[in-house]
Amino acid sequence: MPKERKRDTLTTGFGTPVDDDVSSVTAGPKGPVLIQDVHLTEKLAHFDRERIPERVVHAKGAGAYGYFEVTHDITKHTRAKFLCEVGKRTEVFVRFSTVGGEKGSADSERDPRGFAVKFYTEEGNYDMVGNNTPVFFIRDPLKFPDFIHTQKRNPATNLKDPDMFWDFLSLTPESIHQVTILFSDRGTPRSYRHMNGYSSHTYMLYNEKREYCWVQLHFKTEQGIQNFTGEEADRMRGIDPDCATRDLYDAIARGDHPSWRLEVQIMTPEQAKDYRFDPFDVTKVWPHGDFPPTDVGHMVLNRNPENYFAEVEQSAFSPGNFVPGIAASPDKMLQGRLFSYHDAQRHRLGPNYHLLPVNAPKACPMKSYQRDGFMRFDSNAGGSPNYWPNSFGGPSPNPEVAPPPIEVSGIAARHAYELGDVDFVQAGDLYRKVMSDEDREHLIGNIVSHLGNAQKRLQLRQTALFCKADAEYGERVAKGLGLNVDEVKRLAAMSQEERVKATAQ
Ligand code: NDP
Repeated sequence: MPKERKRDTLTTGFGTPVDDDVSSVTAGPKGPVLIQDVHLTEKLAHFDRERIPERVVHAKGAGAYGYFEVTHDITKHTRAKFLCEVGKRTEVFVRFSTVGGEKGSADSERDPRGFAVKFYTEEGNYDMVGNNTPVFFIRDPLKFPDFIHTQKRNPATNLKDPDMFWDFLSLTPESIHQVTILFSDRGTPRSYRHMNGYSSHTYMLYNEKREYCWVQLHFKTEQGIQNFTGEEADRMRGIDPDCATRDLYDAIARGDHPSWRLEVQIMTPEQAKDYRFDPFDVTKVWPHGDFPPTDVGHMVLNRNPENYFAEVEQSAFSPGNFVPGIAASPDKMLQGRLFSYHDAQRHRLGPNYHLLPVNAPKACPMKSYQRDGFMRFDSNAGGSPNYWPNSFGGPSPNPEVAPPPIEVSGIAARHAYELGDVDFVQAGDLYRKVMSDEDREHLIGNIVSHLGNAQKRLQLRQTALFCKADAEYGERVAKGLGLNVDEVKRLAAMSQEERVKATAQ
């Protein structure tokens, strides 16, 4: 709060001076209250409307401003002006969040963390809307609302429900990679400063000649990865449910500015054609051995917001906010998000949310033919033409900025992904090759304490999936849960269809 200083006169929302802000107008000292006290009714009516719909996902978050600086030249890959020169700086606003919890939920919950960066570039705003995990649970957007329902509350009890949680995941085996990351200690980061951010999806970069490549973006923390153990995270829920929000604010306030290094993995269109993993499947990473990451830049957060609601709650990100030089890939989950994010913001903030200061472009003007709508609080483009084409000097499109055309063909149908052994490889690699003994021990313990609350048939079905990723991984979970290891192995050897039938009751 600001220090005491000479006070201005209190006014209504319309600027008229207020004579008294503690005593309502009443008929006599004991009431009743008179409706002629318009200051009272206005004050109550505005208060009644203080809450806007909370985000259906990523409701609890914290944000800060800073800058992104280019450290390495990638101009042969992209025409994006904010990446055009080593040393160039662009203002950013970053919002971190948990995903499944409500606005008042604890920061230390086991959950992926949102990692959304808004670059205020001179060609408009570019949003990198990622997570602290490089993959996701599902790869078709039609499954998204169902998946989120299972992470939220049971419709009857209004409680988080381990049966819903594990029922869906065990019926969705492509989730095994993300589940393995989520139940490792990376599922409970110590703070927002001590985690990486990943684009998770594949995106396109294209240059002036309209040559393109596919990329994955990784923001690597320069504070080092630090996580809570499951036990520490549980304890922290009671000690300080806002620990990550507080940590970020306090660090920036004391001048300890957190930073991340931006790396990209680059894949040519030719490499994409026959790569052993589908490069547009968000349940997969591109192993570093195949596609070594290269440095691009450095991001520093150095300024706290002055007003949480105005700047963090009203900040609105969309993976559909591209600038020339960066474009979407065919990733099905990304394609769903390209619609859903703008739509969610329109619902939450209204159709003119792009005019709010935190969302508006800062480094270039906005000149569109969109007009009117709720809360159009700028000049609404005055008397200038509101249609295109026009012969009255209105802004014109620039065909030069279009992304390169890419060839797409096929039968229009609901194409299901076929589950294959390939869907278990990366979860297994993570367990076997990347995790330390201690990581594996914590992973098993975290799974057992959560999955142990679900029905036995769901425990069996899910543990069979761990077994498919890695036999030892599955066996250790089975033993931790007191399941019959041979039964788990039998289930693991079945097709998913048979497994579901065998665990139906
Ligand atoms: P590498 O050994 O080259 O890289 C391993 C990566 O795993 C590092 O980026 C590391 O991040 C990260 N990591 C370490 N511990 C964990 C954990 N508990 N949960 C999640 N990530 C962790 O291996 P590959 O590239 O061949 O990939 C092997 C496996 O590593 C993958 O199957 C995937 O599960 C995981 N991984 C891969 C990433 C990629 O882009 N290739 C990115 C993140 C994870 P850091 O360097 O920050 O410690």
